[in-house]
Amino acid sequence: MKTALITGASRGIGAGCALAFAREGYHVGINHRSSPDDAESIAQQCRDLGVEAEVFAADVSDSSDAQAMVESFVSRFGRIDALVNNAGGALKMPAGGFIDMPVEYWDSQIALNLSAASYCTQAAARSMVAQGVRGAVINISSIHGDITWVRRKALPYSAAKGGLNMMTKALAVELIAYGINVNGIAPGLIHTKALDRYSERDLSGFNRKIPFGGGGSPEDIAELAVFLADKSRSRFIVGQTITVDGGQSIDGSIDSMLDDAF
Ligand code: NAP
Repeated sequence: MKTALITGASRGIGAGCALAFAREGYHVGINHRSSPDDAESIAQQCRDLGVEAEVFAADVSDSSDAQAMVESFVSRFGRIDALVNNAGGALKMPAGGFIDMPVEYWDSQIALNLSAASYCTQAAARSMVAQGVRGAVINISSIHGDITWVRRKALPYSAAKGGLNMMTKALAVELIAYGINVNGIAPGLIHTKALDRYSERDLSGFNRKIPFGGGGSPEDIAELAVFLADKSRSRFIVGQTITVDGGQSIDGSIDSMLDDAF
């Protein structure tokens, strides 16, 4: 039986990925930092699909926590076939903008949206290589790693996701030698709790601007994550960050609206 560890899986896109992997028959690890009840509820929904599921509390932006989590996962399930680096999110730039930006804000955004994927991937790749598991790593990026939404209000988030896209390419080249595929997914606006910060009025404005006719759901991302983890279908896709955004990034006019509303 294959196994998948999904970071930040207590809700949103991560929870959608956990359920999608469970539907495919993977045993799943549900990571969270501070939402144990939500994580347990997602784990139970995975068990109801007939697989084993376990919750792993860890702050993945902390290197020792991240490494310990991957090691616990491997000792619980015996191996790791797929790692989804999903935990992340944008915090608004404090007043004063870049000129007055506190270094703690920069550090924490880079740690969560870039370094965490490195910590978890290194631990997972060590285990895969040691066991000869030809696994997969999927990094959940953002269209804003490539286009600058948040020119003003989430600069470190955009910089981190852009770095994550480059890490995906560079790591893919190194790890394909072991049969490990590294790819990324760049979502556009996906309806999760992360959007609670926007008013109904702002959201309907964004939705009107997305060529598809609205934002996506966690399942829209999760389906691609499962596909990328399945080498029988995706083995020749290496080091790519694939945009899944209903056409949002083609019509960049939404970006200044997002920035104004953030
Ligand atoms: P979300 O609903 O806010 O969920 C975030 C998840 O990450 C939660 O399970 C949260 O659990 C966990 N998490 C946060 N910090 C963590 C940490 N330090 N260690 C471990 N877990 C942590 O977010 P989402 O909208 O599903 O977004 C998921 C990913 O997609 C992020 O990387 C985000 O940047 C990306 N993305 C989202 C959108 C969108 O429109 N939603 C668009 C582009 C990209 P706790 O509550 O326990 O911390």
